[in-house]
Amino acid sequence: MLNFSEAKALTRQHCDNLVDFARRIVATPSLSGEEGDVAAIICAELKLLAYDDVWTDAVGNIVGKINGGSGPSVMLNGHMDVVDPGPSDGWPHPAYSGEIVDGHLWGRGSVDMKGPVAAMIYGAACFKKLGAQPAGDIFMTVAVSEEIGGLGSEFLMRDFSADCAIVGEPSNNQLRIGHRGRIELQVKFKGRSAHASAPHLGTNPHFAAAKFLQKLDQLPLAEDTILGSATIAPTLYETDQVSSNVIPSEAIVFLDWRNVPSETPDHAIAELKKLAADCGECEVSVTRQMRKTYPGPSQDFASIFPPFSTPSDHALVAAVTPIIAEATGQPVTPDVWNFATDGGHIHAAGIPVIGIGPGDDALAHTNQERIAIADLELGSAIYGPMIGAMMEAVT
Ligand SMILES: [Zn+2]
Repeated sequence: MLNFSEAKALTRQHCDNLVDFARRIVATPSLSGEEGDVAAIICAELKLLAYDDVWTDAVGNIVGKINGGSGPSVMLNGHMDVVDPGPSDGWPHPAYSGEIVDGHLWGRGSVDMKGPVAAMIYGAACFKKLGAQPAGDIFMTVAVSEEIGGLGSEFLMRDFSADCAIVGEPSNNQLRIGHRGRIELQVKFKGRSAHASAPHLGTNPHFAAAKFLQKLDQLPLAEDTILGSATIAPTLYETDQVSSNVIPSEAIVFLDWRNVPSETPDHAIAELKKLAADCGECEVSVTRQMRKTYPGPSQDFASIFPPFSTPSDHALVAAVTPIIAEATGQPVTPDVWNFATDGGHIHAAGIPVIGIGPGDDALAHTNQERIAIADLELGSAIYGPMIGAMMEAVT
């Protein structure tokens, strides 16, 4: 089995290539649905690193496979899309420059999560560099459209299997064992449109929506021993009118429900219907949208990120704990991410998931996004030994 000091030495040896690859993908814009250019660079790197098989699927997800023995397989998962960098004047270094300043790689996606993707790709490639066959197959998966709810991984997991998985979202190289899910819902209040000068001729849906929002704090929200308490937040508000002198016939409240495993989408809809029952006529649904993908076909996608949690006494947690402790020089305390990841889609397919990745997640989606090269290198060195230990743990 690959031990940490071997992996560390190998990663040191190839660190310049790792950093150069991370820079090139950070410098290549890849908003959700527009990942074609970055996908080409990632596929080329997987081939260069001698992955045995590299392919993309219908929505543009990449899979790089390293052939192993007949033992359990391990899936690694990251995403190649990024959120919009916003106004350019807020960035100390341009969002797509890939500049390295004071030991940090700057730019959109450096933390979330092109840096971690580069770390995983190089981490798994240690087996190839050593000429050591892993006990089972390794699947490096790089998904599209995670930032809009995980369309890529949801699609991938319809037809993909592995015995266990690592999600490499940033965690400062600390172990993560779960997160709450996210369900985007809309409550559409129905009214009757009229000229705003004669409100008595219409039914104004704003009042029903206002009554509903006032009651939202009465909504029962579940508590989970690992993931903590569910939350709900109203986010957007829309009407079917653009003129300010017309009473609309619809008012739509958008809600962001961070759910725990006991709260399914059907449960969320039923609870919201109950709460809205005396507010006015309304419809409650999960937001669905047609989303474009870079290979061409658009996909009808429901905005649902499932939650996941892996018990802290799970065999996978026990197997990777000594490796992470050795690498970081600190005791390992399994914790949860505050945000949702593609780990939910993988867990929903019945695969046990744990998470770890280099980079400070507090910098994700900000104009201060940067990753320390030292974290990147350390994170990359952890993956190879983890893969080996996980294959033994699920045998
Ligand atoms: Zn991410």
